[in-house]
Amino acid sequence: MTIKVKTRKILWSKSGNRCAICKKHLIQKFEINNSNFILGEECHIISSKEKGPRGNVKKMADYDDNSNLILLCANDHKLIDDFPETFTYEIIVNLKNNHEKWVENALEKDLQDYIRSVNNCEVLDEIKNHVQLDIIIKNAHFYFFDSSSIIDTTLSIEASEFFDNLRDLSDIYSDLEIADKTRYLIEHEKQIIKFNESGIRFFGKSLIREYKFANVPKDKYKLAMIIAFNPEANPESIQSGKLTVKIPDDFTPSI
Ligand SMILES: [Zn+2]
Repeated sequence: MTIKVKTRKILWSKSGNRCAICKKHLIQKFEINNSNFILGEECHIISSKEKGPRGNVKKMADYDDNSNLILLCANDHKLIDDFPETFTYEIIVNLKNNHEKWVENALEKDLQDYIRSVNNCEVLDEIKNHVQLDIIIKNAHFYFFDSSSIIDTTLSIEASEFFDNLRDLSDIYSDLEIADKTRYLIEHEKQIIKFNESGIRFFGKSLIREYKFANVPKDKYKLAMIIAFNPEANPESIQSGKLTVKIPDDFTPSI
């Protein structure tokens, strides 16, 4: 049996062209004649031969299925096959899953940094509980609150009140006892859940931004950004549960 082209493409792309063990790039440049050579090997986790590495773990209908393959450099391929007692089936499956997660997270982070650098955009997580609220408003110097996507008048007024209360809370935040802080934040969490029931979702982030104020040298400040968002206004702004927004160029923080 041979590995299908589709399976190979999935394996290579999910691995980010890197060895799942040493993370080495699996396509290297041969400087002398400027050509590429491939170090990567599509390795079977369970051998189709019973005497082969991990061959006694279980019988498989298709040994060339993606679930039985891991992408490694030649050295690490030899390593897992020479030491199958150390590199058990479970350990290799775990290595593979963690590696693919690592690739995905690294790319996602890179993409977010790229979007931000190109468009002055921010990618915000959805706020679902008071712990997230605490992280965002704690020690903030300035606030950027926005509910402009809400068209319904009643909801819009309620969102403004929510933000006014949150701003008041932030002003006295550092003086509050933890128990009181938590109580107030849980109140806000309950309100967010009520907004969610009306279709309004909250997204936010704690940002570090540079600002220059009169008579004070340019400095870095912590900005608490929270958006009450009506997804119907612009559904494409939400991707994979995160909201991408642009801070207006003329935004100047107010204390
Ligand atoms: Zn390797």
